[in-house]
Amino acid sequence: MQLSLVRRQSTLAQAQAQREILQGSQVPDAPHFDDALTQHKLPLLKAAGVQVLQINVGKLCNQTCTHCHVDAGPDRRESMSRETAEAIISALKRFDIPTLDITGGAPEMNPNFRWLVEQAHALDRRIIDRCNLTILVANGYRDLPQFLADHRVEVVASLPCYLEDNCDSQRGDGVFQRSVDALRILNTLGYGQADSGLQLTLVYNPVGPSLPPNQAELEVAYRRELKSRYDIVFNQLHTITNLPISRFLDDLLQSDQYETYMRKLVESFNPQTVSHVMCRTMLSVDWLGNLYDCDFNQMLELPVAAPSRRIENLDWDALAHRTIATGRHCFGCTAGNGSSCQGAVVS
Ligand code: SF4
Ligand code: SF4
Repeated sequence: MQLSLVRRQSTLAQAQAQREILQGSQVPDAPHFDDALTQHKLPLLKAAGVQVLQINVGKLCNQTCTHCHVDAGPDRRESMSRETAEAIISALKRFDIPTLDITGGAPEMNPNFRWLVEQAHALDRRIIDRCNLTILVANGYRDLPQFLADHRVEVVASLPCYLEDNCDSQRGDGVFQRSVDALRILNTLGYGQADSGLQLTLVYNPVGPSLPPNQAELEVAYRRELKSRYDIVFNQLHTITNLPISRFLDDLLQSDQYETYMRKLVESFNPQTVSHVMCRTMLSVDWLGNLYDCDFNQMLELPVAAPSRRIENLDWDALAHRTIATGRHCFGCTAGNGSSCQGAVVS
């Protein structure tokens, strides 16, 4: 089934269609992820505590990138309510989770974004904003960079290339130039500058159906090119593999590259990455307050294996040692040097 045919159906139907494609017969000889673990004499994925609470506050975004695994865009209406945001802050008060990682969509467009940041800052938590950069120079949001700096929020910003054409082909016309404008503002506030304490991480993901290059080598090239071309500095670069989910899966299917890409992920399986995948230390919350192992499982509606799947009833003992729900998409996190929201997981 082509995903484009189910776009107008409910999110649940979309998730089910994606799961069927990932489990389906298009790559008949590809193993299930758990079988690959067994073949390499590795245990099934289990959580090892919760260090990061990653909250997806909704699908509203000012961009419509081709690789987006959230299927976000300006016409999406899914948005976390204040009630759910309060349940998240209540969970942070009750449990010792060091990091609040806020994603979307463009998370800053959620009306509760600033309230969440203020509350988490008051609780002295590390706060990450997964930012698309262009929102920082959009009308109505131009005071955001100062707000982020005032609350010591780490900015993790997408910039899939230091070349304008490559970036715009994935993220839309004019995105690169607006991203450069936003990075300059962040630099002026101290982001990315040594000793400022304001962390600026850039995120690279491949423009097409390939694995990311070596993270350390690419970081050197980014540093050199962004400094020489635009006088921009940053703290670190993360490389992320595109998982075959949502809009990127749709693109792979429409360009007849799904089978090739999935084979590449499976053949690049690296057993050394497995113990470092992010779901082992993360809990993901959707805009409605439901719990998942990661943002990808959230998009696929793969529920977390715990008696309660709601943020209001977070059961620490059950969640901290839960078995992770896996699927063939997990080969995206374990191919090559691995991939996570913290970039490559092995060097
Ligand atoms: S990839 Fe990020 S910036 Fe692009 S549409 Fe998706 S949520 Fe928005
Ligand atoms: S997609 Fe990655 S992070 Fe999510 S469950 Fe699979 S291995 Fe873990």
